[in-house]
Amino acid sequence: MRAPRYDILFEPVAIGALQAKNRFFQVPHCNGGGHRDPSAAAAMRAVKAEGGWGVVFTEQCEIHPTSEITPFIELRLWDDQDIPALARMAEQIKAHGALAGIQLAYSGINGPNFYSREVPRAVTALPIRTFTNDPLQARALDKAEIGDLRRWFLNAAKRARQAGFDLICLYGAHGFGIFQHFLSPATNQRSDEYGGSLENRSRFLRETVTDIRDALGEELAISLRIALEERDGFTNAEMRDFIEMHRDLPDLWDVARGSWEECSATSRFEEEGAQQHLAAGIRELTDKPVVGVGRFTSPDVMVRQITSGVLDFIGCARPSIADPFLPRKIEEGRIEDIRECIGCNICIAGDMTMSISRCTQNPAFMEEWRKGWHPETMNPKGASANVLVVGSGPAGLEAARALSLRGYEVVLAEARDTLGGRVTRESALPGLATWARVKDYRIYQLSQRANVQTHVASPLNAEDILQFGFAHVAIATGAVWRRDGVSRQHVTPMPIDASMPLYTPDDLMDGNIPDGEVLVYDDDHYYIGGVLAELLVQNGARVVLLTPAPLVSEWSVNTLEQPFIHKRLLDLGVEIRLNQGMLAIDKNHIVANCIHSGKTEHIPAQAVVMVASRTPVDALYLRLQERREDWRDAGIRSVTRFGDAEAPAPIAWAVYAGHRYARELDGEPPRGDAPAFRREVAQLGDMTGGMNGTDMNRQ
Ligand code: ADP
Ligand code: SF4
Repeated sequence: MRAPRYDILFEPVAIGALQAKNRFFQVPHCNGGGHRDPSAAAAMRAVKAEGGWGVVFTEQCEIHPTSEITPFIELRLWDDQDIPALARMAEQIKAHGALAGIQLAYSGINGPNFYSREVPRAVTALPIRTFTNDPLQARALDKAEIGDLRRWFLNAAKRARQAGFDLICLYGAHGFGIFQHFLSPATNQRSDEYGGSLENRSRFLRETVTDIRDALGEELAISLRIALEERDGFTNAEMRDFIEMHRDLPDLWDVARGSWEECSATSRFEEEGAQQHLAAGIRELTDKPVVGVGRFTSPDVMVRQITSGVLDFIGCARPSIADPFLPRKIEEGRIEDIRECIGCNICIAGDMTMSISRCTQNPAFMEEWRKGWHPETMNPKGASANVLVVGSGPAGLEAARALSLRGYEVVLAEARDTLGGRVTRESALPGLATWARVKDYRIYQLSQRANVQTHVASPLNAEDILQFGFAHVAIATGAVWRRDGVSRQHVTPMPIDASMPLYTPDDLMDGNIPDGEVLVYDDDHYYIGGVLAELLVQNGARVVLLTPAPLVSEWSVNTLEQPFIHKRLLDLGVEIRLNQGMLAIDKNHIVANCIHSGKTEHIPAQAVVMVASRTPVDALYLRLQERREDWRDAGIRSVTRFGDAEAPAPIAWAVYAGHRYARELDGEPPRGDAPAFRREVAQLGDMTGGMNGTDMNRQ
C-alpha cells in the first residue's frame, strides 16, 4: 500500500459542485488523432481513467468552423454531428470514475482555416501566427461577431454537456486560445470596451463564463486555462491582477505558460517543476482550486507542490502519456514501477506531423483501440517456451520486458559491459541525462522477473546461437553511425582524404573527442548533431556546425526544441552555417557548397564529425538466415530482427518495435494484406445537393 506521505495526493477536491476523487489531473493534450481517430483517442483517455487520474481532459476542441488550427488534427464540436464521437470519449472516461473534461477552443489569430476556408477572425487584425508563417491575415471581430462568438461558446458548452462532459476548460494559454488573445495587450489592440485596460481585455471572458453559468448553472464546472506569462504581452504580474479581479469567476484555475514551446519544454531545456516560480502565490489570490503542470513524475515533488501551497491539483500531460497508471502505482506503493516521462516530446511530434502520436516510454500509447494494447497488461503466452533476445538497446530491453510479462523464459545477451545500448551512450551526452529512464525502468523491471536472465559482455555469433536451442531468436543488435557521408545529400560515399581526422557520433560517445577547429556536418537533422556540437564546445573545441537544412537540428521543430537548440548553440559560440552541404573532405579543409547556388567554399578544419546516417548491425541476422536449413535441428522456429538492426530510427521507434515483436510472437499470421490495426473510415454523406451547380447555401 501507499506510503502515508502520499495520502495528500489522494484527497478528494471540489471543483464547483463536482468532486474530483484525487489530485491527479490529466490536463488537455493533443495526440495527433483528434477528430480523425475518435475511438483511438477515447480508448487512450479511458486507460488514463482506469490508471487512477481523478480528472481526464480531451485535447483542444474547436467550437466553430470560422476558426480551426489546420493542418493540426484536434477535436471539433461544430454542430450536433460531432456529439456522438465526443460522447464516446466522455463515457469511456467516466466509466472508470474520473471526471470528464473537454477543452473548448477558438483559435483566432492562431487558426489559418485551411479546411473551412472561412476568413480568420481575431481580436485584432494581424497576420496568422502559427508554426509555418502562413501567408494570410485575420480580420478583427466586430461587436456583433463578438456576440456570435459568445453564442458559439455557449452552444459548445451545451453540446459538451449533452455529450456527457462534467467540466469545460476555456482555452487561454499556449498562444492558442482566443481568451489569451483578448487578455494580452500584444494581440488585443482594440479601442472599444474589449480593449485597453485589463478590465476591458477581460470582458469577453467574463461575459462568456456568465453566459454559460446562466444557461447551465452548476451542471457543468468551468475551468479557465490561463497563460502564466507571455513574452511581450500578458505578464505574470498582470495575470495575477486578473485572477485577483476575478477570484470566483471559474470553478478552477488551470495555469500554463504563454507559449506551448515553453510550457512543453523538453528535459534538455527545463527541469521537472520548472513553472513553479510563475505559479507560486496564485492560490492566495483565489478561493478556487489551482492546477498547474511541470512534467511531474516524482510523487515527492508532487506532494511538495501541494504542501507548499503552490497547487491543488497535479496537472500532467506527458507524465500521464508515459505512464497512464502513475496514480495507481503511487496508491499501490509501487513507486519503482512508474514509467517516468523522459521529456523528449516525441509525443508532440505525432501532432506536429499530423500522423498519430507515439511515446518513447509507452509503446501502447494510441494503440489502445487500434491494436488493443493495454499499457500494463500483455496478451497471454503463446505455444513456445523461450526466446533469446540479442542486444539490450531500447528494442531488446522492451522486447525482453514484454515477453517476460507474457510468461516466456527470456535470455537477454548484450555484447557490451552495460545494458541499454544507445540509450546508455546517448544519455551521457549534454542535456540528455533524463533519457536514461528508458533503460533504467526496463532494467529494473527485468531484475524483478524470475523468468529473465541477462548476460552482459556476451557477444553472440550465429554458431553460438545454433547450439543454444531457443525457440525464437530476437535480433535487436542496433546500428552504427556511417563514416562515409552517405545520408541525404550523398546517397553514395563522398570523397574523403584519409589524412583528415574523421569522427562519427559513436567515436565521440566512446570518449574520442577532438579539440581545435572541428567541423560538424549534420545531414541527420534531429538532435544528435546539435548535442555533439555542445559536447565538443564543453571539451574546448571551436565548432562550426554545417548543415544542408535551412534550420539547425531541423526535425526538432516537431519536438518544439528547435529555437532553443539554435539559441543554445549561439550562446556557446558555435558558428552555424545553414543551407550548406559538404562536397568533399580534403587534407585540412572541407569543400562546402551552397545548396541553392551551388557556389563552393573551402572551410578550414582540423577534424570533421560526420553526422550522416546509420548502418544496421545485421550481420548476425543475415548469417542466421544463411543457416536456415540448420534451424530445425537447433530447435529454432523463428529469427526476427527489429529496431535499429532492421531500420535505424529514433529511440521511440525501437521501443515500439520491441514491444510489437513481443505482442505478436506465436500469434496468428497477419490476415492477408489488411492493415495491422483498426481504423475509422469517414461515413459517406449524401451526394445529392452538393454538385451540378447546387450549392449548399441555396438548399
Ligand atoms: P536499438 O535501438 O534497436 O535497441 P541499440 O543500438 O541501442 O539498438 O542496441 C543494440 C545493442 O545490441 C547494443 O548495445 C550492442 O552492443 C548489442 N549487440 C550488437 N551485436 C550484438 C551481438 N552479436 N551479441 C550481443 N549483443 C550485441
Ligand atoms: Fe514523455 Fe517522450 Fe513519452 Fe512524450 S514521448 S510522454 S515526452 S517520454
